[in-house]
Amino acid sequence: MSDELAKLRSELDSIDARLIADLAAREEMVAAVARLKAEGGSQLRDTQREEELLTKVVERARAAGLDGHYIARLFREILDHSVRHQQEALVDKDNPDRAGRRVITVAYQGTEGAYSHLAARSHFGPRGLEQVVYRGHDSFAEILESVREGAADYAVLPIENTTAGSINESYDLLARMNLAVVGEEIVRVDHCLLALEDVSLSRIRRIYSHPKALDQCTEFLRELKHCQVESFANTAMAAKKIRDDQDLSQAAIASEEAARLYGLTVIRRDVANQKENYTRFVIVATEPVKLDLRIEAKTSILFATRHEEGALVDCLNILAAQKLNMTKLESRPRPGTPWEYLFYVDFEGNVADPKVADALRKLAAKTNFMKVLGSYPARTTSKPVSPRVASEIVVDTTADDDATDETTPHPDVVAMLEKKPYKLASRAARPQGSQFRVGEVVIGGGKPVVIAGPCSVESREQIMACAKVVKEMGGHLLRGGCFKPRTSPYAFQGMGYEGLDLLVEAGRAFGLPIVTEVMHPSDLEKVAQKADIIQLGARNMQNFSLLKELGRIDRPVILKRGMMASIDEWLGAAEYILAHGNQQVILCERGIRTFETATRNTLDLSAVPVTKELTHLPVVVDPSHACGTWRWVPAMTEASIAVGADGVMVEIHPEPAKALSDGPQALEFDVFRKMMRGLRLVEDAPGRKS
Ligand code: PEP
Ligand code: MN
Repeated sequence: MSDELAKLRSELDSIDARLIADLAAREEMVAAVARLKAEGGSQLRDTQREEELLTKVVERARAAGLDGHYIARLFREILDHSVRHQQEALVDKDNPDRAGRRVITVAYQGTEGAYSHLAARSHFGPRGLEQVVYRGHDSFAEILESVREGAADYAVLPIENTTAGSINESYDLLARMNLAVVGEEIVRVDHCLLALEDVSLSRIRRIYSHPKALDQCTEFLRELKHCQVESFANTAMAAKKIRDDQDLSQAAIASEEAARLYGLTVIRRDVANQKENYTRFVIVATEPVKLDLRIEAKTSILFATRHEEGALVDCLNILAAQKLNMTKLESRPRPGTPWEYLFYVDFEGNVADPKVADALRKLAAKTNFMKVLGSYPARTTSKPVSPRVASEIVVDTTADDDATDETTPHPDVVAMLEKKPYKLASRAARPQGSQFRVGEVVIGGGKPVVIAGPCSVESREQIMACAKVVKEMGGHLLRGGCFKPRTSPYAFQGMGYEGLDLLVEAGRAFGLPIVTEVMHPSDLEKVAQKADIIQLGARNMQNFSLLKELGRIDRPVILKRGMMASIDEWLGAAEYILAHGNQQVILCERGIRTFETATRNTLDLSAVPVTKELTHLPVVVDPSHACGTWRWVPAMTEASIAVGADGVMVEIHPEPAKALSDGPQALEFDVFRKMMRGLRLVEDAPGRKS
């Protein structure tokens, strides 16, 4: 090593030491804040302050020449850690018994490197305990027994997976054993294929993993025709076997952590069918914890209904009447009584809240048996904060005396709606309006969303650069065409599935859900597996076979207005999708054909308030395809938001002059940045109806 390199490295070492010292100082400060909050009555989470903090650090980072997205990610992690720290301090205050134990034992199923072990570490790590002993066991029953017998303080039990579903054995054990749920933890499951060395996939003959993990990777495994697949007790043990056997033709599906632990090589990443794959664990102890009402909490209960008509509905209505949001409902056979069921319900709420206690009392009276497993800090419901777009303004409408109840339509509107042939799309069907959630983004929730990206995905560099600027500027969704409807058959037709994979990669890299267009029914199922929202282009608005197929998938659809379509025809097209089952339609006004030739199309902005009166579906606006020229796009974007659109969709490109489609209307990044800074993403713009 040259002297110069050694010197630079030693300097890096001292910078890292300073960073650690600063983080430690920050943690001490957080602990002091936590103590203050525990004593006083101030709110635990102040999302506005968190938002401001993130905005400030991102601005500072940019001024210092750092990447805002990278800094936002780092600080989100730091903030999350500090919120957890404060929550834990509050729990300790109310549970002196727990607070007194500084050395604890945690039981989990499997060996080091198993997902349960990861869950245990991320749960107990932030507690700042003196020592945590993690003990692996062979079965779920054993970990719970070791808690019951006092050999362990806590057990970490997987309860459901977002791909494979509920883990029945865990539910059955919780019903049988008299234990309490005191926490939950979510772990992102990133299944990898691990082998002894970097061998090619074609040399692998046998793959081992836990049956649940194998269930989650069926698509990948189906392609490996010459491979034998074998179940194993858990993913980490499968990895251990690969190391022990020293056989180059064997591989395991497990976490990257397991690869590190057993000295294996990741030969393929992301082999699960669904890319967003999470497992939820519950933390089990002998006694429930008391939770301060300031902690966002969830409560788990189980009950057996009486043999009466409508018994389950009656029980759920009790929760609904108290506005307790149910997050999970599961039924399991009731042991010893064939055809009777035990129901498991998780809801947002805390047994310490009188409203919850009242609901639970009423519920008990309705059931044959009820058990409260416990209340615990929620990990699935808290809303993540983001840095704000520089000029995002939140208007306080509480002072607005003229505000009428927006969910009561004007009598003229009611009379008009009665005559319309569309019934499911009609505002009358859902006066309060529809909201759709895509990842963490809500469309139709009163806050306009920004969908941005290139007309077509052209290369990895291009889509990555676009995703980065969209994320950095506070955009919400990434668009990119892979199958393009082009007027000329000789023009660029899109990159197809190769482009879709790049779009998926960019979306994941920057945490942006993706939108892409489908032109043929046969592509729909495949694209819907990868894209978060499917776009139906203006030219296909009345492609009825495509509309019907869109009605059969569980994905939000952006339905563009045909360039020759009236608003009624547009809503008729939406009705096709709704009538076939899928209720998640977002309308998109993108300009219509008129005699005017100065713009590519004429942006019909009056369609926004008119359509929102006629339908409950969210309405977004695409000013790019309407204007056809980038210079007018920022003004029309602003206008769209001002008239109450639920969002805008704009085309951007790193080098518009070189774009393979729609270059003249694409915004350069600097123009996009300036537009985003100036946007009034007002919560409640005049005329906005959710
Ligand atoms: C697009 O959004 O890429 C597109 C082709 O739009 P439209 O269908 O509105 O022309
Ligand atoms: Mn386009």
